[in-house]
Amino acid sequence: MRAKGILPTFHECPYCHGKKIGRIRRGLYKCYQCRKEWSRRRGSKLEKYRVTLQKVLLAVKLFELETSVRKASHQLGLAYNTTYTLYDLIRKTILHLTTNNNRFSGEIEVDESYFGGRRKGKRGRGAPNKIPVFGILERGGKVRVEVVDDVKGDTLLNLSLKKVKRGSLVYTDKFRSYDGLVSYGFKHERIDHGLKFANGKVYINGIEGFWSFAKDRLMKYHGVDPEKFPLYLKELEFRYNYRNSDLFDVVMRQLKM
Ligand SMILES: [Zn+2]
Repeated sequence: MRAKGILPTFHECPYCHGKKIGRIRRGLYKCYQCRKEWSRRRGSKLEKYRVTLQKVLLAVKLFELETSVRKASHQLGLAYNTTYTLYDLIRKTILHLTTNNNRFSGEIEVDESYFGGRRKGKRGRGAPNKIPVFGILERGGKVRVEVVDDVKGDTLLNLSLKKVKRGSLVYTDKFRSYDGLVSYGFKHERIDHGLKFANGKVYINGIEGFWSFAKDRLMKYHGVDPEKFPLYLKELEFRYNYRNSDLFDVVMRQLKM
């Protein structure tokens, strides 16, 4: 694994912009004009971390392999909390890749689902302790998901407007909250799960594929802290959208910036 290239290279002093600078000892630069010193990590995402670059690279690798924080901390020889903050840094780095505001267009699948909560009791829409999540998938493209306060018509239609270009063809199930899509300027086709699962092109198997991908992974964690859930959901979105890419490379490229 290449440790070089994660940190910025300095060609001038960040204080006085003088060009007479040098490496004085491991990890430290010095300006011979203004006499100031600075760390090799200055301005990098790793500035606050005291962990060696080799360990950062290994942490990204372990994250890619979906190793738990506990197991990763043993392999890295780092405290649980340190490993946790490294994972957190990786998740926040990923967040930059998932928050782009281009609207989806073409053929879109829209659906909502519930995450978390106890297994007992009411299931499905309106179950207590469950976190509602809204999802959009562009066929042949990416999925985008987010936690919502509720699944009322206004909420879901407003989100659809924000994230999908008008005139797109939107596929949903029979849920009433999607009733207004046509009056918002979308073409709208519905699939009735009660009748048959897929009717020609009228299906939402794509977004449902994401729901099961995400829920399979969440099972391993025996529930996620509701406060951390939005960040974790974005991680799952990222893993799904980049499931055919080299995650390690994608994260490293992002970590450098
Ligand atoms: Zn200087």
